[in-house]
Amino acid sequence: MANTSFHIAGHTLQPGQRQQIDVPVARLYTHTPLHISIEVVHGRKPGPVMLVCGGIHGDEINGVEIVRRLLRSRSINSLRGTLIAVPVVNVFGFLQHTRYLPDRRDLNRCFPGSDNGSLGGRIAALLREEIVDHATHIIDLHTGAIHRTNLPQIRAQLEPGSETARMADAFGAPVILNAELREGSLRHYAQNRGIPVLTYEAGEALRFDEWAIAPGVRGILRVMRRLGMLSGEQ
Ligand SMILES: [Zn+2]
Repeated sequence: MANTSFHIAGHTLQPGQRQQIDVPVARLYTHTPLHISIEVVHGRKPGPVMLVCGGIHGDEINGVEIVRRLLRSRSINSLRGTLIAVPVVNVFGFLQHTRYLPDRRDLNRCFPGSDNGSLGGRIAALLREEIVDHATHIIDLHTGAIHRTNLPQIRAQLEPGSETARMADAFGAPVILNAELREGSLRHYAQNRGIPVLTYEAGEALRFDEWAIAPGVRGILRVMRRLGMLSGEQ
């Protein structure tokens, strides 16, 4: 069965198409427009819509590298379903090497947000409407804080037999935590909406940790195989 076209952030992708889309988010104080850059890989055959995002905390850069490597992986060329990859969600924080938005709000406490709220609330609402609500599965990439290293771990709501638990098992991280949902987080929003979601936490902020990046890439590919998005051994 052939895939149908896929609509996201004002763009339409045909089966087999891959496209980078810049979603306008706000302007800097200099009036320079700022975008959240996403890359969408839309397979020829139908399947799940997997969102993989990094840098919702702007100083957590391991996830940015994980997304970059995922997009370079040759195995996604024959994808079933759709991959939405967002290397840097909090573009403000990334530019300033900080976890937070310019007003010190934590974007991962701003969901679901609203179109006329604070900067964080507006960005959360934009992400929700343009990107997150299109996904059937989500993997959100994080690290520990500055000078605090997290052992590679999956945090998720692990109800036995659930799709989330199935994804967590497939990821194969050294540690899996049955973690409470935190109000306002992307994971809280997605799980309550019925979208199975994993948080991968590994390494520390402002540092590329190879031992955190490599298992992250492998874990995402394993989840995609388990969901039937990629062929091959798990
Ligand atoms: Zn984080």
